[in-house]
Amino acid sequence: MADSPGKRKTAKNRKSLATRAVHAGEPRKRYADSITTPIIQTSTFTFANTKAIEDYTKKGKMRYEYARYGNPTATIAEARLADLEGAQDCVVFSSGMSAITTTILSLVQSGDHIVITDDSYKKTLEFCKSYLKQFAIECTIIPFGDYHILEKAIKKNTRFIFSESPTNPYLNIFDLVKIKKIADRHNVLTLIDSTFATPYNQRPIEFGMDIVLQSCTKYLAGHNDILAGAVLGRKELIDKIRDLHKSMGGTIDPHCCYLLLRGLKTFPLRVKYQNESALKIAQWLETHPKIKKVYYPFLKSHPHYDVATNQMTGGGGVVSFDIKGSLNTAKKFLDALKLCFIGPSLGGVETLITHPALVSYYDYTRKQRYTLGITDTLFRLAVGIEDTEDIITDLENALK
Ligand SMILES: *Cc1c(COP(=O)(O)O)cnc(C)c1O
Repeated sequence: MADSPGKRKTAKNRKSLATRAVHAGEPRKRYADSITTPIIQTSTFTFANTKAIEDYTKKGKMRYEYARYGNPTATIAEARLADLEGAQDCVVFSSGMSAITTTILSLVQSGDHIVITDDSYKKTLEFCKSYLKQFAIECTIIPFGDYHILEKAIKKNTRFIFSESPTNPYLNIFDLVKIKKIADRHNVLTLIDSTFATPYNQRPIEFGMDIVLQSCTKYLAGHNDILAGAVLGRKELIDKIRDLHKSMGGTIDPHCCYLLLRGLKTFPLRVKYQNESALKIAQWLETHPKIKKVYYPFLKSHPHYDVATNQMTGGGGVVSFDIKGSLNTAKKFLDALKLCFIGPSLGGVETLITHPALVSYYDYTRKQRYTLGITDTLFRLAVGIEDTEDIITDLENALK
């Protein structure tokens, strides 16, 4: 499988993404000749003698000391993720939110200002607008897609622009080329949560973004069985984040890291299939008489179709759609599904469907939800790896 789109193929002589997802970051000569990665299940590492201590403390010899500061299984996951994303370095975390909050805190000081787009992940947004205030860090939330407002929001003390692409649930696409130009004009950092895309569909570092965040819980691990996160970027930035991570302590467990590495081996296969399946489902939904609107970045009807097809390989595995009818119609549709599971999250092998009004935004009033575009009849379908026709049949029967 080649990296595509071909026009953005990176370094020459590099193996394709599919091959690197299986092998990158790991020496060919394995521990005990095992083909799989060892799980070094330990909280501490021992020193053979005082010379070993001094080699480490005084001469800076690379080794492990205590599991919060690093673990060999995690090191391999970090090297593999960095390779796939085309980043110099990576730190893995116990969750995506741990990666995001630790990264943000490592970059700001009181008196700083940050800019974030309004349809960022709900918990990221909450952290920026409420929690950072306690440290006198000011946050401007700007409407997604308005690059003029975005540029005007930047001040002298702005440290970074944080965004996401694609976003939830409308799968808006952030124009990485435009944002890079704005960031360069004002000398601010760019942080992008690329969870919905994965490095199969989009590699923001190739567009000059400074930091990429991933919730590996989703496509990268891919089996709905672990939480994990990662931050990727230039070494000097990642070093700072790794330092703070040692204090914050959102350390990933080695066994969890093993599951992440196992999931990574098949992620290009899964995402390729999920791209194709989601596009077919989106096209089918668009023709269905009971559907009001479909949101999928690789549909021509999507407002960001051109940007999406320019910066992404595929549209990803998430399709959002609005059905005709009322909240009651929406509930009936959900209750009639037999294959798709009702549940949050995305990126795993099982197809999941969520109803944002009843789940993520249950604590908002109807009016608040509607201003955010979260209607009573909006659904987000996270397509798994089941047969496309079986998913369509399930949706069709439930819509009846
Ligand atoms: C799930 C998700 C997160 C949070 O990741 P966790 O692993 O659940 O902590 C952040 N951003 C996006 C876009 C997500 O989908």
